[in-house]
Amino acid sequence: MKTFPMFLQMQGRRVVIAGGGEQAAQKCRLILKTQARITLLAPALDPELTDLHAEGRIDWSAAPIRADDFADTALVFIATGCPATDSSLHALAKEAGATVNVVDQPDLCDAITPSIVDRSPVVVAIGTEGTAPVLARQIKTRMEELLEPRLGDLAALAGRLRGRAAARLGPRMRRDLWRWVFNGPARTEHARGGERAAARMIKQAIDTASFGAETTGSVALVGAGPGCKDLITMRGVQRLQEADVIFYDRLVDPEILDLARRDAERVYVGKAPGCHHWPQEKICGVLVAAARQGKRVVRLKCGDPGVFARGAEEVDALTAAGIAYEIVPGVTAASAASAALGGFLTERGTCDTLLLATGQYQDAGKGPEWINSLQPGTRVALYMGVGSAAQIAEGLAKAGLQDKVTIDIVSRAQQPDQVIAHCTPQTLVQVTSDQGIEAPAILFLTWPHGAAPVQHTSQHTAPQPAKALALS
Ligand code: SAH
Repeated sequence: MKTFPMFLQMQGRRVVIAGGGEQAAQKCRLILKTQARITLLAPALDPELTDLHAEGRIDWSAAPIRADDFADTALVFIATGCPATDSSLHALAKEAGATVNVVDQPDLCDAITPSIVDRSPVVVAIGTEGTAPVLARQIKTRMEELLEPRLGDLAALAGRLRGRAAARLGPRMRRDLWRWVFNGPARTEHARGGERAAARMIKQAIDTASFGAETTGSVALVGAGPGCKDLITMRGVQRLQEADVIFYDRLVDPEILDLARRDAERVYVGKAPGCHHWPQEKICGVLVAAARQGKRVVRLKCGDPGVFARGAEEVDALTAAGIAYEIVPGVTAASAASAALGGFLTERGTCDTLLLATGQYQDAGKGPEWINSLQPGTRVALYMGVGSAAQIAEGLAKAGLQDKVTIDIVSRAQQPDQVIAHCTPQTLVQVTSDQGIEAPAILFLTWPHGAAPVQHTSQHTAPQPAKALALS
């Protein structure tokens, strides 16, 4: 190690930052998270720093800088934006015996600022001694996923309860207690926002010296996103990492399962078209049974668990069985498809009503009911609609809308084999068959405000974002 990581005591200490522009502001934002008092040395401040000074959150001196200005400091940052000025200020700061960081000049740095994951009082600092800043950021992203946002509050709570634990439990029991706290139901409860309940659980565990036996399980209905690993939420990843068992659907990216603990059980409960599948009651049954065994269960669904995912039936079954559940939202296919088109789900002045609808009808004879809800300014994001292309085209024609509505289709949005096509109600059936559009796909049907409809030329594209939706 050329550098050695240490946490500096900042309470009641002074940090001097030389500079008044963006570089100085960056350091200022960082140090404002600590309890140090900041002094800025600069002839002028940018608007952000001016506001901080006006709010009394930092001190400022515009006088010519002398070595004395750097005396008695915890740290000095030199960040004027001008390398020559930085070098001469560095010499002054060293004369005052300060520990100095000069922005972008590693050779002049006594101290390097790490990449930081801040769950204060839990702080992770990552450094690569300047060799690989991109790697440091990647590690930071992994840590951000791993450590739930409220972890710092849990650590602070544990800190407040240390005295109580020390008064009642011996050293070995205390170790077991904290292991249980940070690896068990109290942490899960706390991460979900149940801070009071978590505090009660820990206090009770201390007072009764009983913990370790997890009796009640829970279920998280987690949205896995549209089928690619990097579009699941951080909360979703956390629930996967806590899970003892994961029940997952078709259309969930298999790589997402790699984010779970290696020893977590994985159970496929998907419904492939035309194949034998798990009936919904059976899925509800296994969720309840696993939670009753005290397991932390994740029910992983593609997209968002609240959109055409039969989440309500599962939640009803869990509620009836008295099992705690949580819903973790995900990126729904409509959002993923719209982004793939390089457009937006709603667009001011063009389309301000968005309908999410399904192409699978409860009553097969009835046809697409959403057609009755169409009016200028409406966009329908149609899920599971590819198989009903003919019915949709016919319904739109019957309603006299074939010249008003434009259609954009995204199949396997955000996946390597994504396909995009544009058409009109008249060409819908032809385009889906010519271009081999298959499920899973989203059909956007847009009736823009005041529109003379656009005749799209159909196209076939590779994965990455196409041009903006042509809608006006
Ligand atoms: N809960 C999911 C929807 C499940 S219904 C969500 O919020 O996205 C299954 C339908 O979702 C598919 O038939 C298709 O219409 C759509 N879908 C799922 N993943 C998709 C993807 N990557 N690209 C396009 N459509 C997708």
